[in-house]
Amino acid sequence: MRVDLHNHTIRCNHATGSMEDYIKKAIEIGIDIYGFTDHAPMDFEPEYRMNLSQCSEYENEVLRLKEKYKKDIEITLGYEVDFMSNPKYMEKSILNSNVDYLIGSVHFLDTWGFDNPEFLKEYENQNIDDIWIKYFKAIEDMAKSNYFNIVGHLDLIKVFKYLPNKDIKLLAYNALKEIKKSAMTIEINSAGLRKPIKEQYPSKSLLELIFELDIDITFSSDAHSISQIGFEYESVKNIAKKIGFTKCVSYIKKEKIYHNF
Ligand SMILES: [Zn+2]
Ligand SMILES: [Zn+2]
Repeated sequence: MRVDLHNHTIRCNHATGSMEDYIKKAIEIGIDIYGFTDHAPMDFEPEYRMNLSQCSEYENEVLRLKEKYKKDIEITLGYEVDFMSNPKYMEKSILNSNVDYLIGSVHFLDTWGFDNPEFLKEYENQNIDDIWIKYFKAIEDMAKSNYFNIVGHLDLIKVFKYLPNKDIKLLAYNALKEIKKSAMTIEINSAGLRKPIKEQYPSKSLLELIFELDIDITFSSDAHSISQIGFEYESVKNIAKKIGFTKCVSYIKKEKIYHNF
């Protein structure tokens, strides 16, 4: 069974291609379960996400395609939601929406968009270990919030190769324990292979720890274009298999379903 649960649409203003073409490509390359999780609305950097008034049209289009292609592929509906330290930015209607799942992602430390190349200079202004500590504290708080089903790109803070001096497994440990406690799933997201770090999220050593802690995993390509659908699936699948994982997760109405991959 091949799943790909984290994918975008043109509504976030930094993706290309029609949703129907995404599905046609997913079917063509043999994806069995395909999830749309576009960036949820939020009153912060609104140019990188849909706005509230687009949600129903987005959800309806996912459901239309789900019905139309149900013989060939299972389509699931979700959102990628920014976990912000200031909760006023998180839309209650999204957090409580009746979708299949929510991906919780940390893209901001306070208001610093650390994965945006425009703000790269900020890495030089702070101690790198402190940045990583802050990042994993945010992941820990996100897990504690219990709003989300899947952790988006667990170690995104490595994206520009500003790596800590401290052991990453130690830095991530408390966050992983909270993820386990809240029964969240961690995606193996191949988008990192397209970024300066040239490595999937999370790293192999974090995946080993995730396996030891018996945390569920799933797969995603975080596609923002047709050509990124299913990106490097074979390589990330093989990494997961080598570590010992045999099952991955999908969601229907926030309930986990396990699949052999
Ligand atoms: Zn993201
Ligand atoms: Zn994404």
